[in-house]
Amino acid sequence: MENPLGSFDQFPRAALAVTPTPLEAMPNLSKKLGGPQLHVKRDDLTGLAFGGNKARQLEFYMGDAIAKKADVILITGAVQSNFVRTAAAAAAKIGLACHVQLEERVPDVDATHRMSGNVLLDKLLGAHLYSYPDGEDEAGADRHIGEIAEDLRASGKTPYIIPLSPGHPPLGALGYVVAAQEILDQLNASGQVIDEIVVASGSTSTHAGLLFGLRALGSSIPVIGVCVRRTSAQQAPRVRARCTEISALLGTPDYVGADDVVVTDVALAPGYGQLNAMTIEAMQLAARTEGLILDPVYTGKVMAGLIDRVRSHSYRADANVLFIHTGGQPALFAYEALLSKALDAE
Ligand SMILES: *Cc1c(COP(=O)(O)O)cnc(C)c1O
Repeated sequence: MENPLGSFDQFPRAALAVTPTPLEAMPNLSKKLGGPQLHVKRDDLTGLAFGGNKARQLEFYMGDAIAKKADVILITGAVQSNFVRTAAAAAAKIGLACHVQLEERVPDVDATHRMSGNVLLDKLLGAHLYSYPDGEDEAGADRHIGEIAEDLRASGKTPYIIPLSPGHPPLGALGYVVAAQEILDQLNASGQVIDEIVVASGSTSTHAGLLFGLRALGSSIPVIGVCVRRTSAQQAPRVRARCTEISALLGTPDYVGADDVVVTDVALAPGYGQLNAMTIEAMQLAARTEGLILDPVYTGKVMAGLIDRVRSHSYRADANVLFIHTGGQPALFAYEALLSKALDAE
């Protein structure tokens, strides 16, 4: 039978993520919420410098960088970006330099936000840090990192930019096409049936990659993307477009239908990287029932979106729902003041 993913092996890949990651039940949280059976895919345990979803995505970017004989990696992201931290770790492990640009995306942050968590790790990993003042100017941030790359080229280096904005080949999403296969293999082996997958929808690499992989492999499990940066109206077309880009990259049909792209922005307010009450509650519940640590920017909001779906009776009582834990825990320490305030007020 012809491989539905085309000649997937044409993409060079660096071994960075520890896989397969565990797929675990969350019986205590399920019981506490009184709804469906909840499960978690532990992609926080991918290993590289505290793990997370970016280790899977970086396997393909770093494979490409090595194939192109790059000697310096460039990436742009939020101040507390997990992608930046994991890219700095991957570069260090492979023996490449790493230049990172940190964008001011979150308003009114304190000194800890700029020093602790991922920023501390970026420095420990030896990355060269630059600052970009406007976190919502995606094109401007890309242009500025392009200028840094030009300067490096002029001094004889071979830079490789990891591009996250739309319109670039979605190599990172391939990491989640692979993860879709991994999840289906795990479900096959255990005989478990999953009725819905709930995952973060940020740059869309994870959401679109997973969705594309599932549909390509013949699975119709619904995937709900929980918006962490943009509203549903902004995010849905980005996910749809990313799926088309994946099919173009792989040279396959676009297996994802318009109805397959489902997003919710119920947990987004007041905006990217900004805490709200439902996210803090979700983080507390996961920690106190399962010993599971979520992060304030992504997985806390995704869990808040999932809890909202349970409470609004979106599931049958006997349903099984899979939450994708995409990592991000180092950012907890950048939100120390806000979280402590909430926890101490109990
Ligand atoms: C980057 C990130 C996401 C979002 O993934 P995308 O592929 O950018 O959509 C979710 N969770 C964590 C912890 C992340 O670092």
